[in-house]
Amino acid sequence: MLELCMLASGSAGNAVYIGTEKTKILIDAGLSCRRLTAALQAVNTDASCLDALFISHEHTDHIRGAGVLSRRYKLPVYATAATWETAGRQLEEVPKDLRRVLPDCGSYSFRGLEIETFPVPHDATGPVGFVFRSARNAAALVTDLGHITTRIVERLQKLDCLVLEANYDEEMLLRGPYPWPLKRRILGSCGHLSNEAAGELLLKIISPQMKHVILAHLSEQNNRPRLAYKAVCSRLEQAGVSHRPRVHIAARQSPSCYLRLA
Ligand SMILES: [Zn+2]
Ligand SMILES: [Zn+2]
Repeated sequence: MLELCMLASGSAGNAVYIGTEKTKILIDAGLSCRRLTAALQAVNTDASCLDALFISHEHTDHIRGAGVLSRRYKLPVYATAATWETAGRQLEEVPKDLRRVLPDCGSYSFRGLEIETFPVPHDATGPVGFVFRSARNAAALVTDLGHITTRIVERLQKLDCLVLEANYDEEMLLRGPYPWPLKRRILGSCGHLSNEAAGELLLKIISPQMKHVILAHLSEQNNRPRLAYKAVCSRLEQAGVSHRPRVHIAARQSPSCYLRLA
């Protein structure tokens, strides 16, 4: 069994809950400790029952509550060596004896869950994506990436569920109010993934095994759920893919997309 729930998703804060029969973990803690604790109620979980927090990268929308959560619940925090070095105050609050170094490219076992990490191109230090494999199911999480790499495509094979960034609609971003340097950063090779690019990535890895795709980290300013949904589904349709996974959209500020894979 593999449970997954998006607790929040987007530039205001990211956190994903993953559970199996043997473990309960969080990926990223970009909300305040109070909000994370409340969001966990959606999966009937108390923060004190978590076994670990895994950090994808050091941007505030992924680590805001990490220090307080770790201190309050004596929660071990896993992050790459580069992330520990650069994260500054918010991760410095994690007690030293609870800091764990996560390889940026590797695979290891955590309470019966195989966790694979791989580097993603994003303007952070040592950002990673994750694959989680239980005895029968596999899910992956890849958000905050500027472009698709061969290694990412290789790592995202044989999945039941994929959480994938669909950050912006290109036209909305280009016509929108953001200053040009910020637009350039988002569009750049180490920025964020557009709806169209999310569709391209999905097309490269789709298999009959994939049952669910969760589009995540949507920009409030430069995207709309229906545009992300349409871009991804039309890409599969244009390519004549007969197998269609269910496509969900992660809510920005509240728990959503609860899935239980068995
Ligand atoms: Zn982010
Ligand atoms: Zn980021």
